[in-house]
Amino acid sequence: MKRAEKAKKIGEILDRLYPQPDIPLGHRDPFTLLMAVVLSAQTTDAQVNRVTPALFRRASTPAALARMPEHEVLKLIRSCGLAPSKARRLKQMAQAIVDQYDGQVPRDIDELEKLPGVGHKSASVVMSQAFGEPAFPVDTHIHRLAARWGLSNGKDVRKTEADLKKVFPRDEWGKRHLQIIYFGREYCPARNHDKAECPICSWAARRRLRAGAT
Ligand code: SF4
Repeated sequence: MKRAEKAKKIGEILDRLYPQPDIPLGHRDPFTLLMAVVLSAQTTDAQVNRVTPALFRRASTPAALARMPEHEVLKLIRSCGLAPSKARRLKQMAQAIVDQYDGQVPRDIDELEKLPGVGHKSASVVMSQAFGEPAFPVDTHIHRLAARWGLSNGKDVRKTEADLKKVFPRDEWGKRHLQIIYFGREYCPARNHDKAECPICSWAARRRLRAGAT
């Protein structure tokens, strides 16, 4: 089966399983989403959602966060992994938005990537989920599933992102990103499971993977 055909069939399955995928990180606007995304590195979305309401109450704008002492930020986010470096990055990011973008989160992926603590994937999440712009954030989970399903043979996430953008229509990118994340969380245990039961790998995976390799 050609990649585009496969992607269409996978898209139909994902639409049936997750017709309207929610954005997993709670937020109010682009800046609060940016904060949540920075906090989500090596931390579950559920954990981030536990700390952000208090953080947003205290500082929901770049100017307010830039004014807040770092130790107070740290106190509010302490239960997230890597909290000291995240507190520092959040402060630097807020200050950069105040100094260089007049206090407004830039609606431009290249500018977002220049902010401290914001990599390409995080910038893509904000472009897609806060601004509704076409972007396809690819993390290591999506990278692995795209390879298993034969949608990409990318050696790294950037190549996988380019491959996925080719096989899924532009207006589906944001939705597909979320659906694949939800699919991975629900269906992909760490190891030792029956791939014949999987709604996608059972027919889409390469023969070697269907036979048992993970
Ligand atoms: S077979 Fe396993 S790894 Fe592959 S998509 Fe299904 S659940 Fe995930």
